[in-house]
Amino acid sequence: MTATGATTFKNYIAGEWVDAANGQTFESTSPANGDAIGVFPKSGPEDVDRAVAAAKAAYEEWRLVPAPRRGEILFRFGALLADQKDDIAELMTREMGKVLPEAAGDVQEAIDMSYYMAGEGRRLFGQTTPSELPDKFQMSVRMPVGVVGVITPWNFPIAIPSWKMLPALVCGNTVVFKPATDTPSLGERFVELLVEAGVPNGVVNIVHGGGREVGEHLVQHPDVPIITFTGSRETGVAVTKSAADGLKLVHLELGGKNAIIVMDDADVDLAVDGIVWSAFGTSGQRCTAASRVIVQDGVYDELASRLVGRVEQLRLGPGWEEETDVGPVINRGALEKIHSYTGIGRDEGAKLLTGGEVAGGNGLDNGFYYRPTVFGDVEPGMRIAQEEIFGPTTALIRVRDLDDAIRVSNGVKYGLSSSIFTQDVNKAFRAMRDLNTGITYINAGTTGAEVHLPFGGTKDTGNGHREAGQAALDVFTEWKSIYVDYSGKLQRAQIDTTENPAP
Ligand code: NAD
Repeated sequence: MTATGATTFKNYIAGEWVDAANGQTFESTSPANGDAIGVFPKSGPEDVDRAVAAAKAAYEEWRLVPAPRRGEILFRFGALLADQKDDIAELMTREMGKVLPEAAGDVQEAIDMSYYMAGEGRRLFGQTTPSELPDKFQMSVRMPVGVVGVITPWNFPIAIPSWKMLPALVCGNTVVFKPATDTPSLGERFVELLVEAGVPNGVVNIVHGGGREVGEHLVQHPDVPIITFTGSRETGVAVTKSAADGLKLVHLELGGKNAIIVMDDADVDLAVDGIVWSAFGTSGQRCTAASRVIVQDGVYDELASRLVGRVEQLRLGPGWEEETDVGPVINRGALEKIHSYTGIGRDEGAKLLTGGEVAGGNGLDNGFYYRPTVFGDVEPGMRIAQEEIFGPTTALIRVRDLDDAIRVSNGVKYGLSSSIFTQDVNKAFRAMRDLNTGITYINAGTTGAEVHLPFGGTKDTGNGHREAGQAALDVFTEWKSIYVDYSGKLQRAQIDTTENPAP
């Protein structure tokens, strides 16, 4: 315990809970009311070196543990998460602010991923294929890569670590995990449960601390051949540059500027439900948040007025209070950034329809609360329609027709999620084909991914990889092709095939 009453936590390295080598600490506090959550090691390069050495040593045994046995540990982990779901959700609501039902959803996503990846222990399929030569067998198998450096953001503090570590582990890799400094206690709880589930010493290590001191050193460490990173575009670029000299495998999941299209023929009530959930859930701090709403001319005025009516009824407050719809944003820096975009939108000539201010009074003064904000008359090129704000702000853009809507939706540098509300199947199929994003929803908002389909985006949202589903296995394995010649003689591919011409 510290003077503020907060519990002190440690790094987990080589099967032991240890302080940072430099003895420094930092505190995690609640964005809802400033309460202390815990005190964590403010680690440095020495701690990263120790964790990587432990993971490297453990890899030699872990890669040889049969994959179904590795999967059984993940099954146990999933069951532990399920047992403690309410408790972890409550901790999440305190530490990062999202309302309780959404926090429980975050934990559920990790439970789903545990069971899905546990099952992979009995699949991890490769291919077998005939040879062009007689008496020859061939197949491809997946090989683990080695020590995986895992760097995560704060907005899905249990789900995102699960999307990375569980496929990494079932494939036979070991892990050094650096969670976000805004959500260290959830990272710590995640590792605690993996240990309880039976992960051997050294297979999973957690090192708390800053992006520069811990993250960058992990990325540059010569014994870490692969980095999986989720966070902002800017940090993703920095990670890519840091990893370049070591020619590392780099898996990036970055920002979004996702749009919901509402056509004249849409069910407007349903569209408003989808927009409210996607734009203001998690206070707009999801990578898939709908920060643009592209509306066909004929329904624009009706949609704008119904949406504003609904948004003005949203109740701000701590996420643990049942009546709260929208919790705080993550920290003061985020609050200031979000508010600065309100100024930018006004200066650009967009019309502030509701919100646009820091919320205070009624017990909100000790937290970071921002009024749900809707801008109207937004032009597609404005900064509020182009840049990721990562807060409860959305921009209404008026368009003529479907072609215009798709052009505007695609006209940003990101390509994560998109959505269209229409009752016309032809329009829906054209949108499915032409929206240039990794995820598209029909008659639903921009959020709501399930763990058994690939997750990720095009363009600046990433670098071509996908998280979740079967696609995740491609991130955490290398393919090996194996040729077995049982003819007893030298057979040369492409050359000796002429001795066996087709009949
Ligand atoms: P961030 O980029 O600030 O930080 C992400 C992580 O990187 C943190 O753990 C941070 O400590 C670490 N880091 C910072 N500098 C580093 C460096 N130089 N080297 C290595 N690591 C470093 O992002 P954030 O604010 O935590 O998260 C919000 C961002 O994440 C948004 O842009 C959001 O869209 C994105 N996000 C994307 C997805 C997705 O799947 N595409 C999911 C969730 C969040």
